[in-house]
Parts: sequence; structure tokens; C-alpha cells
Amino acid sequence: DLEAAARRVDDLVRLVPDFPEPGVLFRDITPLLADADAFAQVCEALAVQAGGPIDLVAGMEARGFLLAAPIAVHLGAGLIPVRKAGKLPGPSVAESYSLEYGDATIELHPSTVPAGARVLIVDDVLATGGTAAATIRLLEHCGAEVVGLSFLVELEALGGRALLGDHAVHALVAVP
Ligand code: AMP
Repeated sequence: DLEAAARRVDDLVRLVPDFPEPGVLFRDITPLLADADAFAQVCEALAVQAGGPIDLVAGMEARGFLLAAPIAVHLGAGLIPVRKAGKLPGPSVAESYSLEYGDATIELHPSTVPAGARVLIVDDVLATGGTAAATIRLLEHCGAEVVGLSFLVELEALGGRALLGDHAVHALVAVP
């Protein structure tokens, strides 16, 4: 159930101050991934939370991949790896977004996203929302329908949800 899964996230996602740079409180999911029961439980909770039928699960490089793949299998859906620029052999579509310093570009293979596909987006942490918003734009450019976004942790103070329009956003744990 969702509450039990949220407790596993609280217990097993490690807080690392000042990583990768001073002032960032990094949420390290590796202890959660390494715990067989907890990993299965949170993947199931994120899959169930998605609601209606899902054709594809999109995961953002790199930690999003680790969650999106088992969730896709659980849902009987396909997987879309959303990759950093230059990793996919193409043809690709790309979207750029701003980071605190500079910007980032993500890409996917549009030939793997049929128009009208119902897609769930998955990542470990919702922070400023830039990555997730760019992923929505990529998928909608392909004609897909983004039916929801699921995260382990939402950092509410960063206001990421506001960039995600009226899409359904779920997080197992919301940090004020
Ligand atoms: P954003 O685009 O700002 O929402 O950032 C989201 C991406 O950065 C996600 O792919 C997260 O994995 C990563 N991220 C941002 N902040 C953190 C954090 N405090 N701990 C761990 N990962 C983070």
C-alpha cells in the first residue's frame, strides 16, 4: 500500500548534504534499490498510483531508468528511455531546459512513441520540474498523451509541480 511504500522511501532514501555541490541536500536512492522488498514495494506502489491503462513508461536518465523499467514490466507497458543529448543513435527529437548554471538537453526516439500513446513519466526526485516539463514537451511533440508523472520524492519548496500544467503528479513522499 501507498503508506507502507512511503515509509520505505523515508527509511531507505539517504540524505547526503552538500552533494554534488555545496548547499544541495542529495536524495540517494541506492539503499532503497538494494533492498529487494522495498524496491518491489515502491515500484508496485508507483505502478498502482498511475491509475488507468498505460502504454509506455518514460524514465529520465539515469535514475529514472531504474524505476521506469520495473514499473513498465509491472504495468505490461513498454519503456521509453529519455536520454541526455548525444546518447541515442537517432533519429531523435530534443528539448532543452535551463538549470541553475547553464542548460541541459534531453532526447528520445520519436519512432518508439506512437501518436495517442498513453504515457506515464517516472523519475526519482521532482525538484525544479525542468526535467519533467521538458519530458512532457518531448512526448507531446510525438503526439503522445501524458497521463501522469510519478516520483519517489517531491521537493515542494522548489515548486516543480507548477511547471507540469494540469497533469496528474504523484509522489510517494512530499518534502515541504
Ligand atoms: P529538476 O529538473 O530540477 O526537477 O531535477 C530533477 C532531476 O535532478 C531528477 O532527475 C533528479 O534525479 C535530480 N535531482 C534534483 N535534485 C535532487 C536531489 N536533491 N537529490 C537527488 N536528485 C536530485
